[in-house]
Amino acid sequence: MRIRMKSLPFLLLLYVAFSYAFPVLPEKNNEGENMQLIQEYLEKFYELQPDPEHLAWRRSTSPMVEKIQKMQEFFGLEVTGKPDPETLEVMQKPRCGVPDVGQYGVILPGWKKTKLTYRIVNYTPDMTQTDVDNAIQKAFKVWSTVSPLTFTRIYNGIADIMIAFGTGAHGRCPRYFDGPLGVLGHAFPPGNGIGGDVHFDEDEHWTEGSAGFNLFLVAAHEFGHALGLSHSTDRGALMFPNYAYINPTEFPLSG
Ligand SMILES: [Zn+2]
Ligand SMILES: [Zn+2]
Repeated sequence: MRIRMKSLPFLLLLYVAFSYAFPVLPEKNNEGENMQLIQEYLEKFYELQPDPEHLAWRRSTSPMVEKIQKMQEFFGLEVTGKPDPETLEVMQKPRCGVPDVGQYGVILPGWKKTKLTYRIVNYTPDMTQTDVDNAIQKAFKVWSTVSPLTFTRIYNGIADIMIAFGTGAHGRCPRYFDGPLGVLGHAFPPGNGIGGDVHFDEDEHWTEGSAGFNLFLVAAHEFGHALGLSHSTDRGALMFPNYAYINPTEFPLSG
């Protein structure tokens, strides 16, 4: 059965207005640090090939410039191809670890079934287990409300969506976490094995409120990826890559 994700409630969900209470990082003035930040950012999220010798900067039409342009286009910045202050500022925002382009840059086919299972493999010590359970359940409800999908929790064995907290290189995950801020979580598109799985960076401070990072909000975003969605360029959309806090009780369709 093909899931029609473009139902009206779903579109409404995508246009949920987020507030912009970004934690702002101190300005990085060191040019070398900036270059490293830009390179790492583009490698992680814009498929820039690793360039250990940093030669790209010396070429006039480097892949780096192209990738900066792509990034600027995605975020609706002025497309200069240069790491101007606005671009650097966006690159320092806490965000999702899923790339904005490449295989994730298109809407992927979803699950070939509508009854999905999930399992909470471990817990963050930042919140009570009940609060984690509630945040996860509420985040699934966002999606079950706007699609034919159902999410049933299991406590043992392999679920379609395995949810775990980890730091740095974690488990058998091919992606790693980067310590506090930066990447908050990531998810894998529908499929077997790691497909559909969702990981949260334990180096973040997870909360059920507005301090630190709200687990419900990040989970609702990551579950979108676990269902096959890619990032949206719309700042107000749930699938926009950067984190923004919105009071979850004001989150429409969250029940
Ligand atoms: Zn994401
Ligand atoms: Zn992971």
